[in-house]
Amino acid sequence: MIEEERVVSSRLQPGDVPLEQGLRPQSLDDFPGQEAVKERLSIYIQAARERGDALDHVLLYGPPGLGKTSLAQVIARELGVGFRMTSGPAIERAGDLAALLTNLNDRDVLFIDEIHRLPRPVEEVLYPAMEDFALDLIIGKGPAARSLRIDLPRFTLVGATTRAGRLTGPLRDRFGVLLRLEYYRPEELARIVLRSARILGVPIDPEGAEEVARRARGTPRVANRLLRRLRDYAQVRADGVITAEVARAGLDLMEVDPLGLDRADRRLLRVMAEHYGGGPVGLETLAAAIGEEPETIEDVYEPYLMQMGFLQRTPRGRVLARRAYEHLGLPVPPGLDDGTAEGTATGGGSAGGAGSSRWARVPDPQQRLEGL
Ligand code: ADP
Repeated sequence: MIEEERVVSSRLQPGDVPLEQGLRPQSLDDFPGQEAVKERLSIYIQAARERGDALDHVLLYGPPGLGKTSLAQVIARELGVGFRMTSGPAIERAGDLAALLTNLNDRDVLFIDEIHRLPRPVEEVLYPAMEDFALDLIIGKGPAARSLRIDLPRFTLVGATTRAGRLTGPLRDRFGVLLRLEYYRPEELARIVLRSARILGVPIDPEGAEEVARRARGTPRVANRLLRRLRDYAQVRADGVITAEVARAGLDLMEVDPLGLDRADRRLLRVMAEHYGGGPVGLETLAAAIGEEPETIEDVYEPYLMQMGFLQRTPRGRVLARRAYEHLGLPVPPGLDDGTAEGTATGGGSAGGAGSSRWARVPDPQQRLEGL
């Protein structure tokens, strides 16, 4: 199936790969944002280094594109140890994981992305490996089978997931450090945009960076992608420099609106408003109505729309909030009670009115839902 490319998708796209390699931060100091996470990590890293011990296993969770993989690499660098990377779906059999584990060096970091997608038998191999640094192998079959325990080097597992709620209890309990990555504030994203522009040699002024940051959905991956597109736009339609005006014109052309919503987001909100009376509407129904996978709605669309106060998840389904009607320019249904009285909608209401405070004030329903 050919999908329309979404320039604001937080998921990795093929064109991102060469760019992302060069833009990954190399140290905690070189990693703008996520201050609370970095502070905790720097303490644990220093303590582990001083003791000459492996760092406790770390679980990083939060929406795609916020820097989980980057942070895992930074952890290994700061510890001064080796880094191995794989992902849940890539490890099909227990033997694949055993091979990876037995090849680690002392105190290495093993990074498993999308760890909630590990097959169950593989996950079971991970339990003794995480807890006792040992592998339990069964040799032979039937009555002659016997079990053999192999010692592993002490290592640090860094797991990443967009779905902390999907992790099994036994796996979650084996992580010593659980860290939630948050969407970035516009001023943090602006620093990231300036940093990326410097590395790539893209001329941009601070106001241009702020405009990109405001429309990048709190996500560095999106910010970097918008920067790459704007570089082309500025080269062809302007004199090469990304000013605020050039950024606005270029992003308008890409149909990324001043709050970072694109056509697909607006379509989802509009379908909810016009076909389902604003909800509640079930995830599967909504997915069928807009022709997307339910998982894409949950991972890519919803976290940001909820963060912005456009959408709520309720036990009966998804419900549109007042702010969504206002943003789309649709009449707010009489009697809509979404918990935000008129005038107190986060961020001051309609499109464009945006201060950094809007991030801080929006409640985060996903965190509560995931129950971590
Ligand atoms: P995740 O693993 O959470 O999906 P990644 O670590 O792959 O996210 O990050 C996506 C892109 O965003 C990478 O190119 C990375 O360089 C960039 N990035 C993420 N976080 C930061 C940050 N704090 N500062 C600078 N760039 C970042």
